[in-house]
Amino acid sequence: MDAQWETVVGVELHVQLDTDSKIFSGASTAYGAEPNRQACAVDLAMPGTLPVLNREVVTMAVKLGHAINAEIAPVCVFARKNYFYPDLPKGYQISQYEQPIVGEGYLDLHLDDDSVRRIGIVRAHLEEDAGKSIHDAFRGQSAVDLNRAGTPLLEIVTAPDLRSAHEAAVFMREMHTLVRYLGICDGNLQEGSFRCDANVSVRRRGDEKLGTRAEIKNMNSFRFVERAIDFEVHRQIHLLESGDRVVQETRLYDPDKNETRSMRGKEEAEDYRYFPDPDLLPVRVDEALVAEVKQHMPELPADKRERYMAELGLGLADAGPLVSEPDWADFFEQVMQHAPEVPPKRCANWVLGELMGALHKMHLSMADSPVSPEQLAGLLKRIEDGSISGKIAKSVFDGMLAGEGDADRIIEARGLKQISDRGSIETVIDKILAGSPDQVAQFQAGEQKVFNFFVGQVMKETRGQANPAQVRDVLTEKLNNS
Ligand code: MN
Repeated sequence: MDAQWETVVGVELHVQLDTDSKIFSGASTAYGAEPNRQACAVDLAMPGTLPVLNREVVTMAVKLGHAINAEIAPVCVFARKNYFYPDLPKGYQISQYEQPIVGEGYLDLHLDDDSVRRIGIVRAHLEEDAGKSIHDAFRGQSAVDLNRAGTPLLEIVTAPDLRSAHEAAVFMREMHTLVRYLGICDGNLQEGSFRCDANVSVRRRGDEKLGTRAEIKNMNSFRFVERAIDFEVHRQIHLLESGDRVVQETRLYDPDKNETRSMRGKEEAEDYRYFPDPDLLPVRVDEALVAEVKQHMPELPADKRERYMAELGLGLADAGPLVSEPDWADFFEQVMQHAPEVPPKRCANWVLGELMGALHKMHLSMADSPVSPEQLAGLLKRIEDGSISGKIAKSVFDGMLAGEGDADRIIEARGLKQISDRGSIETVIDKILAGSPDQVAQFQAGEQKVFNFFVGQVMKETRGQANPAQVRDVLTEKLNNS
């Protein structure tokens, strides 16, 4: 049935800007304080207080604007969005309405099938977060924590350009990577630093007109976004196919039941009685600031991925994951810097394979890695110059994880250096051949596979340290001449 229907999704991302203080007050934005300890008179909406704009949020919004190829408004205006809720003591949220700071832009999505989809971004505006209602702290009563009130947010709004739940999740991930590269958001999903609302509708394939949409609010996991949209799409198709209609409304996703539920009826912009906030002057975004920010833009994830593939010869399977986390890309690049002679592919394999595997087991993030990029580079150099085999390198790496020091020190202390001098290898081989007359006879009678028996014996005798290529060379020579 789905083949006849097209999914149409647009998302609104609430990105918490990583400033020390709030957007209109000097209170701290640090997460996890005792309730209401980080809410000053402005955040509490005490009469007579006035908001003062935090300059930092303007710079951060401009950064995002550049990254999505958007126009930065020369003048933007803060507006009051009026609604009543206990966690909003002023009775309005300061947001931007008719004149947002960032105008139209786009983000290119690279999908698994190698196709690229350009997703339009309609706008990005600055606003303050509300407080939090707590319903489970006191029996029969609700509590209000205003620590989060006034935390700066950048709301990024896309056009209805996403065509599946999966695309919406890919977009969310890509944006999540982007804001961390820009250094404007810590990206902490559990703490709510990055939240997604999805507007979902369906229409008959070929129809131009958009269907009626439902908005799913406040999701903070990529997986939930994908599941919630999937559920919603099927709910709507089912309604329409049974002759019913979709009602425009706000819905909540329940991950335990994997379903969306109606929360409230639709609101229109008119309901909020937006008007320019008379307490705040229009913001003139200085051209010099816009230019200055542009000059100091970091390499963006998409460009980095492209460079890894074009210049380092990595495939998407390596470049994609390495770039997805700024920490990982950093680590990888530092390893390459310290070991320029090691091929990038080998560096990538070790970072994504051994290192990530070990960190995962130890429940550590890259930032807390017990092995530094320089140390990993030191190990890879020893594989590269033939001092140790790849197999022995893994046990050296385990030693590094256990804090035994640099690769060279561990190789020395454990006597792991690969035996590459011909004399020593010959001595071992002579001894083994002399001790295995039956196998030598078998080989000479044409049983080629006995060769591997000899290789195995030599490696055993040298505790895996003999250079395997040399062992084969010397063995071939000796067996054919004996
Ligand atoms: Mn908002």
